[in-house]
Amino acid sequence: MDREQYVIDAVDKRLFIDGKWVETGRTFDVVDPATGRTLCAVADATPGHGRAALEAAVAAQREFAATPPRARADMLMAAFELLHERVDDLALLMTLEMGKPLAEARGEIAYAAEFFRHFAEEATRIDGGYQTAPAGGARFLVARQPVGPCLLITPWNFPMAMGTRKLGPAIAAGCTSVIKPAHQTPLSMLALMGILDEAGVPAGAVNCITATDANAVMEPLIRSGLARKLSFTGSTRVGRILLEQCAQKVLRTSMELGGNAPLIVFDDADLDEAVDGAIAAKMRNMGEACTAANRIFVHASVIDEFGRRLAERMAALRVGPGTEDGVTVGPLVDEAALHKVQDLVDDAVSRGARVLTGGTPVSGTGYFYPPTVLTGVPRDARMSDEEIFGPVAPLTAFETEDDVVAAANDTEYGLVAYVFTNNLRRALRVAEALETGMVGLNQGVVSNPAAPFGGVKQSGLGREGGPTGIDEFLETKYIGIALA
Ligand code: NAP
Repeated sequence: MDREQYVIDAVDKRLFIDGKWVETGRTFDVVDPATGRTLCAVADATPGHGRAALEAAVAAQREFAATPPRARADMLMAAFELLHERVDDLALLMTLEMGKPLAEARGEIAYAAEFFRHFAEEATRIDGGYQTAPAGGARFLVARQPVGPCLLITPWNFPMAMGTRKLGPAIAAGCTSVIKPAHQTPLSMLALMGILDEAGVPAGAVNCITATDANAVMEPLIRSGLARKLSFTGSTRVGRILLEQCAQKVLRTSMELGGNAPLIVFDDADLDEAVDGAIAAKMRNMGEACTAANRIFVHASVIDEFGRRLAERMAALRVGPGTEDGVTVGPLVDEAALHKVQDLVDDAVSRGARVLTGGTPVSGTGYFYPPTVLTGVPRDARMSDEEIFGPVAPLTAFETEDDVVAAANDTEYGLVAYVFTNNLRRALRVAEALETGMVGLNQGVVSNPAAPFGGVKQSGLGREGGPTGIDEFLETKYIGIALA
């Protein structure tokens, strides 16, 4: 049996409910975006299966909340070790279902595992407080308790890490959950269920449902009132719908939504460092990242040289199936994604943008789009407002600091911004003025499990990772004590 078939066969393709693998009698296909071939079929949940999964989480909540924090930390550390032990197989599985090059998939498994280690450490440090009331006499005891059963919904672009970023703090805090991965990439999450089971997570504490009709399965669960929280990573469009649904039962929400990241290159920046940063911020995951640089603003005095260097580097990147050695740009996730990227490029060009490299899809099978650099992209191009989600770097010239800050903030999104400058005062001034939850200063990647990840404006609510990541899964309870 070849290795690809081996890693696919190793995954249980049923639903994971109450510690058992459950048949549904109907399935949907998982497709390799590099070839268009069907890899396998996985269980397609009905609303009834969703309900069973949530009921299992509800039933397990009380006992799971009572497990010693050290025991929950040990489960997470065991899962961290297993992810590292199996990194090669899990990376191949991810590349097959999602397309990213193997090296990036390995990097994502390590990144995903790190959320488990980070939150294993947090599990035993959940704090509380004891305070004298200002008027004296009474005491305030402040306790942190798990929010309760959670619904977790994840996107396809980081099939493992977006799951562990939610499951890590949920388990650490003592919350049970039902997780639903994206229909394009269910295999990584199903593989993770096996790992969590092996790591000793008790039955019902984590449940996984895969489905083609996300709305039909998730909406009744959100509206049921049985869950106490929804943590969602995905598009702003879907996030808005889910927020409305959550309002009915006043669920706690964490929303990691879309981005439209500006990357700003000042005339005093180290241009090589800025090109490296732009490639990192643009090309990670073939540009299919909420953190991807979506608008690149370059000072007018250096834009020609920056564009030349960036186009040269982008044109040299090797495009192909992520399983092949040396490939750094895999396929986009599906045909719709390919058409969307091409439409956005055509739109920008029709409005006056100039192609420095790329700009037309790669012919043949699979959903490949070449690394593309456009310059002179005008404000009215659709890509100024919409996530490109592909390997396209749009450059626009600016003259002054005030102008570029205003242009960078001229979006409904506010996830991340990148700034390249060697002027310390300017760096801090601009970082403070940018309306984003995160800023990369002279660096093109900000994601780190130990840092608070999240956006402002319509990029979301709450933070994942970092010292505050576990707060999203904890309630604060105050107990007033009369001493006298
Ligand atoms: P999406 O279409 O919003 O889907 C995300 C998840 O929501 C999938 O599991 C999807 O299931 C599910 N879903 C869709 N409609 C739903 C509904 N009505 N009710 C319940 N669940 C529903 O986003 P995507 O295309 O997978 O991912 C790309 C988006 O995610 C981009 O906008 C990107 O910026 C964002 N993202 C944000 C972050 C962050 O941390 N801020 C990180 C990564 C990605 P199906 O697959 O079955 O439709």
